[in-house]
Amino acid sequence: MSGVSDPTVMTPEAAPDNEMHDVLVIGGGPAGSSCAYWLAEAGWDVALVEKKVFPREKTCGDGLTPRSVRQIADMGLEDSLSGAHRYGGLRAHAFGKVMDLAWPSHPGFPDYGYVITRHDLDGLVNQRAAEAGATIWQGTEAIEPILDDGPADPSGLAGCRGALVKDKATGQRREIRARYVVVADGSNSRFGRAIGASRNRQQPMGLALRGYYTSPGHEEPFIESHLDIRTADGEIVPGYGWIFPLGDGRVNVGVGLLSTDKRWKGINTGTLMDHFVAWAPKEWELSPATALGAPTGGKLPMGLSVGPRVGPNVLVAGDASGAVNPFNGEGIAYGLETGRLAAASIGEALNGGGTTSLRRYEERLDEAYGLYYEVARTFIRVISDPRLMRICVGTGMYSETLMSWILRIMANLLRPDEIGPAEAAYRAMARLAALVPEPA
Ligand SMILES: Cc1cc2nc3c(=O)[nH]c(=O)nc-3n(C[C@H](O)[C@H](O)[C@H](O)COP(=O)(O)OP(=O)(O)OC[C@H]3O[C@@H](n4cnc5c(N)ncnc54)[C@H](O)[C@@H]3O)c2cc1C
Repeated sequence: MSGVSDPTVMTPEAAPDNEMHDVLVIGGGPAGSSCAYWLAEAGWDVALVEKKVFPREKTCGDGLTPRSVRQIADMGLEDSLSGAHRYGGLRAHAFGKVMDLAWPSHPGFPDYGYVITRHDLDGLVNQRAAEAGATIWQGTEAIEPILDDGPADPSGLAGCRGALVKDKATGQRREIRARYVVVADGSNSRFGRAIGASRNRQQPMGLALRGYYTSPGHEEPFIESHLDIRTADGEIVPGYGWIFPLGDGRVNVGVGLLSTDKRWKGINTGTLMDHFVAWAPKEWELSPATALGAPTGGKLPMGLSVGPRVGPNVLVAGDASGAVNPFNGEGIAYGLETGRLAAASIGEALNGGGTTSLRRYEERLDEAYGLYYEVARTFIRVISDPRLMRICVGTGMYSETLMSWILRIMANLLRPDEIGPAEAAYRAMARLAALVPEPA
């Protein structure tokens, strides 16, 4: 897909000192840009600071599932994806078997996804927030929060009146103040930690590595997942390898690993990736000769593992809140969705609801993901055991019906009429999971 039209980058000199906004958003990835878009669209005065300048690279598999496409369409952006590679489902490989699983038909989600680099996608989403009226400061890093000096909030998150920011090009510093602050600064979330958020280490965390390759399969109509990736010693690890066609001569290739259990903490993702590239089906022609540079990696905090997420005037969204889906490592949709949920709660708070409305964010998260993520955490405890993993995936690969159910659950795409029975199954699984020991 060809580039993003250049967004206007305002310079700090053009800004008055100590600006005061309704909302300040820290970070311009999917979560921050979606939050800024929905608030600006509703007429609020929103500022967003992003330390990089778009278009910028972001380490990712670049896969948009139907959940992501739905959010992007709701922001009026789907036409902008017309040059991106559209695909119809997942080709699952495991234990020598291959299965093509089309995305299901669903009343709320399309039956297709896209593969588009984050280099192209994130600038589009951020620019959409600017078009809706948000003030975007690119190349501007939030250095530290301006903390409230009132009494400590029972939530454990500090009140935050804005941020001290630095223009990365000039080094110039200034304050941006706001009535509400949204933290959407990604998986490392330095800003989130500075106001008191932290990750629950008992909960799942993913590590992933990706690189680009030239490949004759770049226009394949399905994305591909290998569910039985192994170490060089042949041991199956909890995670998967992927090959996502970009339609422009390249494929995005990567490995993701759950590092929940101490057995997997020592695994080198670089070695796992080399092994996967050597082992992948030959028709992709993956090799060091077709690699377009060294792979890069990142963390995937999962299952809403970071908290607190609501403070006296602060909300935490996207990877900064650990929102990645533990079933499949997908985080773009959950960034876009949690940003939107945060915007809804802040809109109510600004309309007079104050802190009580702000706290609705946690309820909204619970309604959207509570039980689902509880089961996902359980699932991870199960597949972290190689024997159980072999039984689950190995059995699934004998039945297309079972695998298409698994796909719908893992991508969080159950239809409303399926949710009732699935919920009962989830609850039963959650009870069973209580019998599986906690990770060491
Ligand atoms: C290897 C890998 C593969 C993945 N593959 C997929 C995939 O195929 N599909 C999928 O859905 N998800 C995937 N994910 C997960 C996905 O990338 C994230 O979940 C998603 O980017 C989360 O969006 P976000 O807006 O919360 O955070 P980010 O996208 O990380 O955005 C945060 C933004 O904040 C900015 N920022 C940080 N600190 C500051 C600061 N102090 N001041 C100002 N700005 C700041 C950063 O520059 C960044 O632009 C993958 C992740 C990895 C690591």
